[in-house]
Amino acid sequence: MLATPTAVAAKGILLMEYNDNADISGASVNRAGGGVSGGRIAVGGGASLIVLILALIFGFDPSGLLGGGTGSGDTAAANPVTSCTRGSDIAKNRDCRWNAYMASIGQYWSGAPGFPGFKATSMTIFSGQVSTGCGTASSQVGPFYCPVDQVIYIDTAFTAQLLAQLGAKGGDAAEAYIIAHEYGHHIQNLLGTMAKAQSSTLTGAGSASVRLELQADCYAGVWFRHSTDNPNGVVKSVTQDDLNRIIDAAMAVGDDAIQKMQTGQVNPEGWTHGSSAQRKKWVATGFKTGDWTQCDTFSATNLG
Ligand SMILES: [Zn+2]
Repeated sequence: MLATPTAVAAKGILLMEYNDNADISGASVNRAGGGVSGGRIAVGGGASLIVLILALIFGFDPSGLLGGGTGSGDTAAANPVTSCTRGSDIAKNRDCRWNAYMASIGQYWSGAPGFPGFKATSMTIFSGQVSTGCGTASSQVGPFYCPVDQVIYIDTAFTAQLLAQLGAKGGDAAEAYIIAHEYGHHIQNLLGTMAKAQSSTLTGAGSASVRLELQADCYAGVWFRHSTDNPNGVVKSVTQDDLNRIIDAAMAVGDDAIQKMQTGQVNPEGWTHGSSAQRKKWVATGFKTGDWTQCDTFSATNLG
């Protein structure tokens, strides 16, 4: 079902293939504006950066880690991106790809068989730092989903640097995977899975945190499988190369890979998101089954 790779390189970034006429106007994408954004935080010295992002990469609910605050009204100053309405806009303005990802993922979940009470989430792109319902966040926490205000937050430039630093190939498919993973946390929030998992005190390899993260990976795989179902949808075709980029990104952010990079050793007791192999397995499970109800990492005796 995968076409021959036809992705084209543009400015060194590998694009996915989009439908020019696809409607991407419904995606809620905002840019933090006004006094919300801090200055850009310099990205340098690999080790220190990795330490900072370790706790939260692709995470959710950073309230325990962020510097206090219950979220002021600052995010209300975020400016909706309204200039991206059609798939063809992506070629003119690459920033529109974020609207495209959100539109495509939302389209899948809004019609996902058997899914109760869907409500779309929104995404806020920021630079440096941002005030959220979960407190004030800096780019270093990585992309995350805040269940309090139900918003996905991402510093897109920082995330690209992060993926490169972790040795991931990147590209549109890898970016879309990140957003689909964060959208997966929103789905877990809607289903009550997140609240249940957060009440668990287990830590390490078999913890509820790891199961929650692997489930979000699986949900991302399910979306990707269905991303081309609608001939008028956002994504026109996907290639083996796109899938490889998704798997590659998932593996690059595996806990064991990050631990090896940091300390040269692997300690499953410190895992919060799952190993590279586990993340690959659950993205693949979602993609192969195309069925979100198969992403039951909480019942799995063997996570991978
Ligand atoms: Zn996550």
